[in-house]
Amino acid sequence: MDGVLNETTKTIHKHEPGRSDFRTICGATSHVAHDQLRLISIDRSENDAGIERCGRCFSEAGGY
Ligand SMILES: [Zn+2]
Repeated sequence: MDGVLNETTKTIHKHEPGRSDFRTICGATSHVAHDQLRLISIDRSENDAGIERCGRCFSEAGGY
């Protein structure tokens, strides 16, 4: 699955399926300049300790 990484805040969001731009599930990147965004694999981001997951995009995958 693809994620959208905000390189300024180092936060990864879930990419909204079917959208060709950087639209995310939570919509947080809609006002962010596209040169600050990057499409990356969510699986690969799990190995990067510097990247935080968006609490809204990943809320269903969390759970305490
Ligand atoms: Zn998000």
